[in-house]
Amino acid sequence: MKTIGLIGGMSWESSGVYYTLINREVRRRLGKSHSASCVMWSFDFQEIEELQYAGDWEALRKRMFQAGRGLAAAGADFAVLCTNTMHKVMEGFEAAAGIPYLHIVDAAGEALAADGPGTVGLLGTKFTMEGGFYADRLRDRFGLTVLVPEAEDRAAVNDVIYGELVRGEIREESRTRYAEVIDRLADRGARGIVLGCTEIGLLIREHPRVPLYDTTVLHARAAVDRALG
Ligand code: GLU
Repeated sequence: MKTIGLIGGMSWESSGVYYTLINREVRRRLGKSHSASCVMWSFDFQEIEELQYAGDWEALRKRMFQAGRGLAAAGADFAVLCTNTMHKVMEGFEAAAGIPYLHIVDAAGEALAADGPGTVGLLGTKFTMEGGFYADRLRDRFGLTVLVPEAEDRAAVNDVIYGELVRGEIREESRTRYAEVIDRLADRGARGIVLGCTEIGLLIREHPRVPLYDTTVLHARAAVDRALG
């Protein structure tokens, strides 16, 4: 079994989910008392969030690369960055860290493409929904058309992530708000919704009109595929 290097703490609420999913999946596949061989580097998310809002992506890139080097030194064979947003700065990671990483958009894109072509909706932080780095990869590698919510809905989705989910707060009214945003994406033609933030699955797991593709679940599964591959 290969050793998985988890870059977490962004936030730890979702890193805990990754850790559980990965270990459960290894036991499901190998049986007996098997669990994952893994190491985690976990950031203080307050510091990460401040750098994001300050737009200091170069400082963030350095931190991700430093984490990668730390994980490589600790014996990780490959890295899994447990956040969608920070994939924005991952170009050059492999050369800097000395280990490859498993891109979260590819884990999502493979599941979406397996269910057929077409238009999908994307929910995530404002950096993910507006940055292009995410939607472009889904389009270029998987042939998908990506819709993001309108401005007011994007702000609401982003504010729930930073104001509630990364702080462990799960509110019924936010679940309803997300369901409405998904409804509007379905009205515009989305045949599936990418939960492109690793905490969204803590809030909403299903919708009556469209399937939800939880990137945390898909990424964790892809990590186990690679580890056991
Ligand atoms: N975990 C979230 C994501 O998947 C948001 C936190 C962050 O900005 O890293 O994008």
